[in-house]
Amino acid sequence: MQSLFSIFSLDQAQYADSIFARLQKGHRHASLLYSDWYRQGQVSSAAHWIEPQAKALVEELIALTDFTLPELSFSKKEGDVVKFLLRFSDGLESESVIIPMKFGNTLCISSQVGCKMGCAFCETGKMGLIRHLSVEEIVSQVFVAKFHMKSPVRNIVFMGMGEPFDNFDAVMQAVRVLVCETGFGIAPSRITISTSGRVDGIYRLIEEGNLRVNLALSLNAPNDLVRNRLMPVNRKWDLQELKKAMEAYCMQAKRSILIEYVMIDGINDSEESAREVAAFLQGLDVKINLIPYNPQRRDLFAASSEEKIARFREILSEEGYFTLIRGTKGQSIMAACGQLGNREMRKRMISI
Ligand code: SF4
Repeated sequence: MQSLFSIFSLDQAQYADSIFARLQKGHRHASLLYSDWYRQGQVSSAAHWIEPQAKALVEELIALTDFTLPELSFSKKEGDVVKFLLRFSDGLESESVIIPMKFGNTLCISSQVGCKMGCAFCETGKMGLIRHLSVEEIVSQVFVAKFHMKSPVRNIVFMGMGEPFDNFDAVMQAVRVLVCETGFGIAPSRITISTSGRVDGIYRLIEEGNLRVNLALSLNAPNDLVRNRLMPVNRKWDLQELKKAMEAYCMQAKRSILIEYVMIDGINDSEESAREVAAFLQGLDVKINLIPYNPQRRDLFAASSEEKIARFREILSEEGYFTLIRGTKGQSIMAACGQLGNREMRKRMISI
Protein backbone atom coordinates (compact mmCIF):
# COMPACT_ATOMS: atom_id res chain seq x y z
CA MET A 1 0.00 0.00 0.00
CA GLN A 2 1.29 3.44 -0.84
CA SER A 3 2.08 5.73 2.13
CA LEU A 4 -0.24 8.69 1.87
CA PHE A 5 0.20 10.76 4.98
CA SER A 6 3.47 12.06 6.35
CA ILE A 7 3.37 11.95 10.13
CA PHE A 8 5.61 15.04 10.12
CA SER A 9 3.26 17.25 8.14
CA LEU A 10 0.05 16.93 10.17
CA ASP A 11 -1.01 17.59 13.72
CA GLN A 12 -2.83 14.83 15.53
CA ALA A 13 -6.36 15.91 14.62
CA GLN A 14 -5.42 16.44 10.97
CA TYR A 15 -3.73 13.05 10.86
CA ALA A 16 -6.60 11.16 12.49
CA ASP A 17 -9.16 12.99 10.32
CA SER A 18 -7.19 12.16 7.16
CA ILE A 19 -7.01 8.50 8.12
CA PHE A 20 -10.70 8.42 8.89
CA ALA A 21 -11.58 10.15 5.61
CA ARG A 22 -9.63 7.47 3.80
CA LEU A 23 -10.73 4.35 5.71
CA GLN A 24 -13.99 5.42 7.34
CA LYS A 25 -12.51 3.98 10.55
CA GLY A 26 -9.37 4.12 12.66
CA HIS A 27 -9.71 7.63 14.10
CA ARG A 28 -8.94 6.62 17.68
CA HIS A 29 -6.10 4.31 16.74
CA ALA A 30 -4.60 6.93 14.45
CA SER A 31 -4.64 9.39 17.36
CA LEU A 32 -2.90 6.83 19.58
CA LEU A 33 -0.35 5.99 16.94
CA TYR A 34 0.41 9.68 16.48
CA SER A 35 0.96 10.44 20.15
CA ASP A 36 2.98 7.29 20.63
CA TRP A 37 5.25 8.18 17.72
CA TYR A 38 5.98 11.62 19.09
CA ARG A 39 6.46 10.33 22.63
CA GLN A 40 8.76 7.43 21.77
CA GLY A 41 10.23 8.42 18.43
CA GLN A 42 9.64 5.04 16.87
CA VAL A 43 6.77 3.13 15.43
CA SER A 44 7.52 -0.23 17.00
CA SER A 45 6.75 1.21 20.40
CA ALA A 46 3.11 1.38 19.31
CA ALA A 47 2.85 -2.31 20.08
CA HIS A 48 1.95 -1.79 23.72
CA TRP A 49 -1.41 -0.18 22.96
CA ILE A 50 -2.42 -2.45 20.11
CA GLU A 51 -5.44 -4.45 21.13
CA PRO A 52 -5.17 -7.90 19.55
CA GLN A 53 -8.36 -7.34 17.58
CA ALA A 54 -7.03 -4.01 16.20
CA LYS A 55 -3.69 -5.37 15.01
CA ALA A 56 -4.72 -5.50 11.34
CA LEU A 57 -6.15 -1.98 11.52
CA VAL A 58 -2.97 -0.62 13.08
CA GLU A 59 -0.87 -2.30 10.41
CA GLU A 60 -3.08 -0.64 7.82
CA LEU A 61 -2.54 2.75 9.48
CA ILE A 62 1.20 2.21 9.58
CA ALA A 63 1.22 1.25 5.91
CA LEU A 64 -0.69 4.42 5.04
CA THR A 65 1.70 6.62 7.00
CA ASP A 66 5.05 7.91 5.86
CA PHE A 67 7.54 7.96 8.74
CA THR A 68 10.55 8.59 6.51
CA LEU A 69 13.18 10.88 7.95
CA PRO A 70 15.92 12.63 6.01
CA GLU A 71 19.43 11.33 6.52
CA LEU A 72 21.51 12.93 9.25
CA SER A 73 24.45 13.75 6.99
CA PHE A 74 26.69 15.75 9.30
CA SER A 75 26.99 16.90 12.86
CA LYS A 76 29.65 18.84 14.68
CA LYS A 77 29.97 19.79 18.28
CA GLU A 78 31.74 22.88 19.55
CA GLY A 79 31.65 23.11 23.30
CA ASP A 80 28.04 22.41 24.05
CA VAL A 81 26.67 23.78 20.75
CA VAL A 82 25.85 21.22 18.05
CA LYS A 83 25.25 21.89 14.39
CA PHE A 84 23.71 19.20 12.21
CA LEU A 85 22.72 18.82 8.59
CA LEU A 86 19.85 16.77 7.19
CA ARG A 87 20.06 15.49 3.63
CA PHE A 88 16.78 15.17 1.73
CA SER A 89 15.92 12.78 -1.09
CA ASP A 90 17.03 15.31 -3.75
CA GLY A 91 20.47 15.59 -2.11
CA LEU A 92 19.89 19.11 -0.73
CA GLU A 93 20.58 19.79 2.92
CA SER A 94 19.18 21.87 5.74
CA GLU A 95 21.15 23.14 8.71
CA SER A 96 20.05 23.23 12.32
CA VAL A 97 21.81 24.18 15.52
CA ILE A 98 21.19 23.06 19.08
CA ILE A 99 22.18 25.74 21.56
CA PRO A 100 22.02 24.86 25.25
CA MET A 101 20.66 27.77 27.27
CA LYS A 102 20.17 28.31 30.97
CA PHE A 103 16.69 26.77 31.11
CA GLY A 104 16.93 24.16 28.30
CA ASN A 105 17.94 23.76 24.70
CA THR A 106 17.10 26.18 21.93
CA LEU A 107 16.91 24.64 18.49
CA CYS A 108 17.56 26.93 15.55
CA ILE A 109 15.91 25.53 12.41
CA SER A 110 15.84 26.32 8.69
CA SER A 111 12.78 27.04 6.59
CA GLN A 112 14.48 27.03 3.18
CA VAL A 113 17.58 25.75 1.47
CA GLY A 114 19.40 28.99 0.73
CA CYS A 115 17.56 32.30 0.75
CA LYS A 116 16.66 34.90 -1.83
CA MET A 117 16.71 37.92 0.47
CA GLY A 118 20.38 38.63 -0.27
CA CYS A 119 21.45 40.24 3.00
CA ALA A 120 24.99 41.45 2.40
CA PHE A 121 26.43 40.04 5.64
CA CYS A 122 24.86 36.59 5.37
CA GLU A 123 26.41 33.36 4.14
CA THR A 124 23.02 31.84 3.32
CA GLY A 125 22.11 34.90 1.25
CA LYS A 126 25.10 34.19 -0.99
CA MET A 127 23.57 30.83 -1.94
CA GLY A 128 20.39 32.38 -3.32
CA LEU A 129 17.15 30.49 -2.87
CA ILE A 130 17.51 26.86 -3.88
CA ARG A 131 14.11 25.76 -2.65
CA HIS A 132 11.56 25.97 0.15
CA LEU A 133 11.53 23.25 2.76
CA SER A 134 8.32 21.28 3.07
CA VAL A 135 6.42 21.03 6.35
CA GLU A 136 7.86 17.58 7.01
CA GLU A 137 11.39 18.76 6.28
CA ILE A 138 10.99 21.59 8.80
CA VAL A 139 9.43 19.34 11.46
CA SER A 140 12.03 16.59 10.85
CA GLN A 141 14.73 18.91 12.17
CA VAL A 142 13.01 18.98 15.55
CA PHE A 143 12.39 15.24 15.54
CA VAL A 144 16.03 14.47 14.75
CA ALA A 145 17.26 16.85 17.44
CA LYS A 146 15.00 15.27 20.04
CA PHE A 147 15.29 11.57 19.21
CA HIS A 148 18.51 11.13 17.26
CA MET A 149 20.67 13.81 18.84
CA LYS A 150 19.01 13.04 22.19
CA SER A 151 18.50 16.70 22.82
CA PRO A 152 15.22 17.72 24.45
CA VAL A 153 14.02 20.92 22.79
CA ARG A 154 12.58 23.71 24.90
CA ASN A 155 12.64 26.64 22.47
CA ILE A 156 12.52 26.77 18.68
CA VAL A 157 13.75 29.69 16.63
CA PHE A 158 13.25 30.02 12.89
CA MET A 159 16.62 31.70 12.48
CA GLY A 160 18.45 29.14 10.38
CA MET A 161 18.62 29.19 6.61
CA GLY A 162 15.85 31.07 4.88
CA GLU A 163 13.31 33.83 5.35
CA PRO A 164 10.39 32.08 7.09
CA PHE A 165 7.76 34.46 5.67
CA ASP A 166 8.95 33.58 2.17
CA ASN A 167 7.71 30.05 2.90
CA PHE A 168 4.77 31.23 4.98
CA ASP A 169 2.23 28.39 4.58
CA ALA A 170 4.73 25.61 5.27
CA VAL A 171 6.13 27.44 8.30
CA MET A 172 2.67 28.03 9.76
CA GLN A 173 1.67 24.39 9.27
CA ALA A 174 4.98 23.32 10.85
CA VAL A 175 4.11 25.51 13.84
CA ARG A 176 0.72 23.75 14.10
CA VAL A 177 2.52 20.40 14.19
CA LEU A 178 5.11 21.56 16.72
CA VAL A 179 2.57 22.93 19.17
CA CYS A 180 0.24 19.90 18.94
CA GLU A 181 -0.21 18.83 22.55
CA THR A 182 -0.12 15.14 21.79
CA GLY A 183 2.90 15.59 19.53
CA PHE A 184 5.93 17.66 20.46
CA GLY A 185 3.72 19.84 22.63
CA ILE A 186 5.97 22.88 22.37
CA ALA A 187 4.26 25.97 23.77
CA PRO A 188 3.70 28.63 21.07
CA SER A 189 5.35 31.15 23.36
CA ARG A 190 8.54 29.11 23.01
CA ILE A 191 8.56 29.42 19.21
CA THR A 192 10.09 32.46 17.55
CA ILE A 193 9.81 33.34 13.88
CA SER A 194 12.50 35.69 12.70
CA THR A 195 11.99 37.85 9.63
CA SER A 196 14.32 40.10 7.69
CA GLY A 197 11.43 42.55 7.38
CA ARG A 198 8.90 40.99 5.01
CA VAL A 199 6.12 43.36 5.90
CA ASP A 200 3.54 41.29 4.01
CA GLY A 201 4.47 38.33 6.22
CA ILE A 202 3.96 40.35 9.41
CA TYR A 203 0.45 41.30 8.25
CA ARG A 204 -0.28 37.71 7.27
CA LEU A 205 0.79 36.57 10.71
CA ILE A 206 -1.63 39.09 12.21
CA GLU A 207 -4.44 37.92 9.89
CA GLU A 208 -3.74 34.27 10.72
CA GLY A 209 -4.36 35.10 14.34
CA ASN A 210 -1.33 32.92 15.04
CA LEU A 211 -0.05 35.50 17.43
CA ARG A 212 0.97 33.33 20.29
CA VAL A 213 4.28 32.63 18.58
CA ASN A 214 6.98 35.25 19.03
CA LEU A 215 8.13 37.56 16.29
CA ALA A 216 11.76 38.56 15.85
CA LEU A 217 12.94 41.19 13.41
CA SER A 218 16.43 41.35 11.98
CA LEU A 219 16.89 45.14 11.96
CA ASN A 220 20.66 45.54 11.60
CA ALA A 221 20.61 49.17 10.51
CA PRO A 222 19.87 52.58 11.98
CA ASN A 223 18.36 54.14 8.84
CA ASP A 224 17.18 53.40 5.31
CA LEU A 225 20.51 54.27 3.74
CA VAL A 226 22.42 51.63 5.68
CA ARG A 227 19.56 49.12 5.60
CA ASN A 228 19.22 49.41 1.81
CA ARG A 229 22.87 48.52 1.57
CA LEU A 230 22.79 45.62 4.01
CA MET A 231 19.32 44.22 3.40
CA PRO A 232 17.71 44.51 -0.06
CA VAL A 233 14.29 43.77 1.49
CA ASN A 234 14.39 47.36 2.72
CA ARG A 235 14.19 48.65 -0.85
CA LYS A 236 10.74 47.08 -1.09
CA TRP A 237 9.53 47.83 2.44
CA ASP A 238 11.43 50.72 4.00
CA LEU A 239 11.69 51.49 7.70
CA GLN A 240 8.54 53.59 7.73
CA GLU A 241 6.45 50.73 6.31
CA LEU A 242 8.20 48.28 8.57
CA LYS A 243 7.39 50.35 11.63
CA LYS A 244 3.70 50.49 10.72
CA ALA A 245 3.60 46.70 10.47
CA MET A 246 5.46 46.37 13.77
CA GLU A 247 3.00 48.73 15.44
CA ALA A 248 0.09 46.69 14.10
CA TYR A 249 1.69 43.49 15.40
CA CYS A 250 2.37 44.90 18.87
CA MET A 251 -1.18 46.20 19.09
CA GLN A 252 -2.84 42.96 17.96
CA ALA A 253 -0.53 40.45 19.58
CA LYS A 254 0.03 42.38 22.79
CA ARG A 255 3.55 41.03 22.90
CA SER A 256 6.95 42.44 22.35
CA ILE A 257 9.07 41.99 19.25
CA LEU A 258 12.63 40.76 19.57
CA ILE A 259 14.95 43.04 17.62
CA GLU A 260 18.11 41.40 16.32
CA TYR A 261 20.94 43.73 15.45
CA VAL A 262 24.17 42.32 14.01
CA MET A 263 27.00 44.66 14.99
CA ILE A 264 29.29 45.37 12.01
CA ASP A 265 32.37 47.48 12.44
CA GLY A 266 32.11 50.96 10.97
CA ILE A 267 28.76 50.22 9.29
CA ASN A 268 26.03 50.28 11.92
CA ASP A 269 27.77 50.49 15.28
CA SER A 270 28.37 54.20 15.98
CA GLU A 271 26.88 56.11 18.89
CA GLU A 272 24.78 58.06 16.40
CA SER A 273 23.47 54.77 14.98
CA ALA A 274 22.43 53.68 18.46
CA ARG A 275 20.46 56.92 18.88
CA GLU A 276 18.82 56.47 15.47
CA VAL A 277 17.83 52.91 16.38
CA ALA A 278 16.36 54.17 19.65
CA ALA A 279 14.37 56.82 17.78
CA PHE A 280 13.11 54.31 15.21
CA LEU A 281 11.90 51.93 17.90
CA GLN A 282 10.17 54.61 19.93
CA GLY A 283 6.64 53.62 20.89
CA LEU A 284 7.15 49.93 20.10
CA ASP A 285 7.24 47.14 22.64
CA VAL A 286 10.63 45.58 21.89
CA LYS A 287 13.57 43.75 23.38
CA ILE A 288 16.90 44.15 21.65
CA ASN A 289 19.57 41.55 21.04
CA LEU A 290 22.94 42.85 19.86
CA ILE A 291 24.80 40.15 17.96
CA PRO A 292 28.54 40.43 17.41
CA TYR A 293 29.15 39.89 13.69
CA ASN A 294 30.83 36.62 12.82
CA PRO A 295 33.31 37.42 10.03
CA GLN A 296 34.23 34.83 7.42
CA ARG A 297 37.47 34.47 5.54
CA ARG A 298 38.05 37.33 3.06
CA ASP A 299 34.95 39.04 4.36
CA LEU A 300 33.83 42.53 3.36
CA PHE A 301 32.77 43.21 6.92
CA ALA A 302 34.44 42.99 10.32
CA ALA A 303 33.05 42.53 13.79
CA SER A 304 32.50 45.56 16.02
CA SER A 305 34.81 45.78 19.00
CA GLU A 306 33.55 44.76 22.42
CA GLU A 307 33.86 48.38 23.55
CA LYS A 308 31.66 49.64 20.71
CA ILE A 309 29.05 46.98 21.35
CA ALA A 310 29.05 47.81 25.06
CA ARG A 311 28.63 51.53 24.32
CA PHE A 312 25.84 50.81 21.83
CA ARG A 313 24.06 48.80 24.46
CA GLU A 314 24.57 51.50 27.05
CA ILE A 315 22.91 54.12 24.84
CA LEU A 316 19.92 51.88 24.10
CA SER A 317 19.58 51.05 27.78
CA GLU A 318 19.71 54.75 28.68
CA GLU A 319 16.90 55.28 26.18
CA GLY A 320 14.87 52.72 28.12
CA TYR A 321 15.27 49.62 25.94
CA PHE A 322 15.91 46.20 27.41
CA THR A 323 19.08 45.26 25.53
CA LEU A 324 21.22 42.14 25.66
CA ILE A 325 24.44 41.21 23.93
CA ARG A 326 24.12 37.73 22.48
CA GLY A 327 26.92 35.35 23.42
CA THR A 328 29.10 34.08 20.60
CA LYS A 329 28.41 30.41 21.25
CA GLY A 330 28.94 28.41 18.09
CA GLN A 331 30.86 31.03 16.13
CA SER A 332 33.40 28.68 14.62
CA ILE A 333 30.71 26.36 13.33
CA MET A 334 29.03 29.38 11.81
CA ALA A 335 25.95 29.03 13.89
CA ALA A 336 25.55 32.71 14.60
CA CYS A 337 22.45 34.40 13.21
CA GLY A 338 22.45 34.68 9.44
CA GLN A 339 25.69 32.77 9.26
CA LEU A 340 24.42 29.36 8.34
CA GLY A 341 24.96 28.10 4.79
CA ASN A 342 28.70 27.82 4.90
CA ARG A 343 31.03 27.71 1.93
CA GLU A 344 31.49 23.94 1.98
CA MET A 345 27.77 23.53 1.89
CA ARG A 346 27.45 25.98 -0.95
CA LYS A 347 30.02 24.00 -2.94
CA ARG A 348 28.07 20.82 -2.35
CA MET A 349 24.86 22.50 -3.47
CA ILE A 350 26.46 23.74 -6.68
CA SER A 351 27.65 20.24 -7.51
CA ILE A 352 24.14 18.73 -7.22
S1 SF4 B 1 19.95 37.05 7.05
FE1 SF4 B 1 18.15 35.72 6.88
S2 SF4 B 1 16.85 36.74 5.37
FE2 SF4 B 1 18.88 37.64 5.12
S3 SF4 B 1 19.82 36.40 3.47
FE3 SF4 B 1 20.38 35.50 5.47
S4 SF4 B 1 18.91 33.88 5.81
FE4 SF4 B 1 18.05 35.24 4.24
